[in-house]
Amino acid sequence: MIRRETFVDDILRDIKAVISQMVPREARITDIEFEGPELVIYVKNPEAIMQDGELIKNLAKVLKKRISVRPDPEVLLPPEKAEEMIKEIVPPEAEITSISFDPSVGEVLIEAKKPGLVIGKNGETLRLITQKVHWAPKVIRTPPLQSQTIYSIRQILQTESKDRRKFLRQVGRNIYRKPELKSEWIRITGLGGFREVGRSALLVQTNESYVLVDFGVNIAALRDPKKAFPHFDAPEFRYVLDAGLLDAIIITHAHLDHSGMLPYLFRYKLFDGPIYTTPPTRDLMVLLQQDFIEIQQMNGVEPLYRPRDIKEVIKHTITLDYGEVRDIAPDMRLTLHNAGHILGSSIVHLHIGNGLHNIAITGDFKFIPTRLFEPAVSRFPRLETLVMESTYGGSNDHQMPREEAEKRLIEVIHQTIRRKGKVLIPAMAVGRAQEIMMVLEEYARVGGIEVPIYLDGMIWEATAIHTAYPEYLSRHLREQIFHEGYNPFLNPIFKPVANSRERQDIIDSGEPAIIIATSGMLVGGPSVEYFKQLAPDPKNSMIFVSYQAEGTLGRQVQRGLREIPLVGEGGKTEVVKVNMGVHTIDGFSGHADRRELISYIARLRPRPERIITVHGEPHKCLDLSTSIHKKFGISTRAPNNLDAIRLK
Ligand SMILES: [Zn+2]
Repeated sequence: MIRRETFVDDILRDIKAVISQMVPREARITDIEFEGPELVIYVKNPEAIMQDGELIKNLAKVLKKRISVRPDPEVLLPPEKAEEMIKEIVPPEAEITSISFDPSVGEVLIEAKKPGLVIGKNGETLRLITQKVHWAPKVIRTPPLQSQTIYSIRQILQTESKDRRKFLRQVGRNIYRKPELKSEWIRITGLGGFREVGRSALLVQTNESYVLVDFGVNIAALRDPKKAFPHFDAPEFRYVLDAGLLDAIIITHAHLDHSGMLPYLFRYKLFDGPIYTTPPTRDLMVLLQQDFIEIQQMNGVEPLYRPRDIKEVIKHTITLDYGEVRDIAPDMRLTLHNAGHILGSSIVHLHIGNGLHNIAITGDFKFIPTRLFEPAVSRFPRLETLVMESTYGGSNDHQMPREEAEKRLIEVIHQTIRRKGKVLIPAMAVGRAQEIMMVLEEYARVGGIEVPIYLDGMIWEATAIHTAYPEYLSRHLREQIFHEGYNPFLNPIFKPVANSRERQDIIDSGEPAIIIATSGMLVGGPSVEYFKQLAPDPKNSMIFVSYQAEGTLGRQVQRGLREIPLVGEGGKTEVVKVNMGVHTIDGFSGHADRRELISYIARLRPRPERIITVHGEPHKCLDLSTSIHKKFGISTRAPNNLDAIRLK
């Protein structure tokens, strides 16, 4: 990345002058720098600033920047000492489970079973900690399940903190460079996921900056890189990469068709700038990327990238919670909003050129409440262009109502159990798996299901990540977890499958069971193993609860193919006879169906001037685009990959 640091030092000099006037001398400022999308003021005595509750707010108003105050690294107590001190200050009843330090931001993360006791009455205990150790304490409730992914991400950020701070400073200087010209035009280019599902990638360009939204891989088309990867051959994209001009990448959500190609950019050193996304999306996408290359390896295919490239993704990610507004380029301001699709999924809102134009890009979204999430946000401060998904945008794409879908699911399960069969539910590790878990859990609690529910593939680890971010879950779940003290994810009816031997035992046992396994479209992963062995027995059932893409085994079986040649052990092709019951229940989808898509437009405030439909089979993108135009009189388009549209 070429840092365009034009006049940053001049800009900083002016800022320093303002700050030294407003901040009391006792604070003892040692450094002022841009770090990522914020301005950081290092001081020897943070309390002198904190005493005045309005000071930071006023500074932010005057400087029009997000401001962080951090203790100068010199005054930080060494981590071992700080840890001892914290344990002395906090009462043992708080049950601290871990204390970890992030030197790149001067933060200490305290995980406790009773976080309230770490904070203390009116924040007293917390204040005492700050005074004694000088690290900025951040307190979170200990997640009930241990996530290996979260643990290793934290480790990486801690050990790489020096590099990380250097990186954040470079990013900051790039964001706050003096723009060469006033923003005059804006265009977007489809690099993937236009009139198709898979490899989502959209380039937003102005005469000043370049930002990429999503960078996915189409795993159903991996044999043909021309179809599986975003368009590296698009001239403007090549130019931006070669010249190192890409300011940022924003990831809407963790699914591989939106995030799966990110590590590839680091493998071939095509990008080394910032990735913006929510904390749960960072964790989930890392999990899915790791799972993806492991499955490639197991299938004897050369993986697209290496674990160390995923590590680079972690090092380059800057997380934002919903609603936090951040500058990401001299003329672009980013906010992420709940999309209701999977944990951490967001609608990307870009404010461009100081009032010039506002774009919202929905990514995948859901507009009715589900068991896991609130519906997508439909109100924005300003909005001129909406780019929306069309997965179920066809005029007949009506999903079953939720209650009916749940009833059907339970029915098929009961029928299968009654005849002593097993139910296989292929599901993506993230999203449908947890949604189905919550349905089954409720029925199990009222005595409706008594057989074990096995979770195979990455589902258990993904569930652990869900339990680490309860604030991203639906109000109903949050209430259950926080007020009633009951966490449905922890119901003992759920049994993670640890290895292939346990998997074989489950298949061989004569007992009925429910198995939720990855991958969701029967493209590699344990679901294929179960399918091969359970398919011939008519006692068993398979239930599809999610989208089956063209070209996948899932789609073939769903369409009614009953004799399927599959490569078995030793590379021999065997024909699998499908005698099991095959059912599709579409009401659980994490995507808005046709009705929701239309009602989303009706409820959208403000009403945009232009709507662009993407992420759907060609006729669905076109159908949705035409229908919206007819119904609302809004200008619409359903562009192709490689089409560029000028927005301003
Ligand atoms: Zn998705």
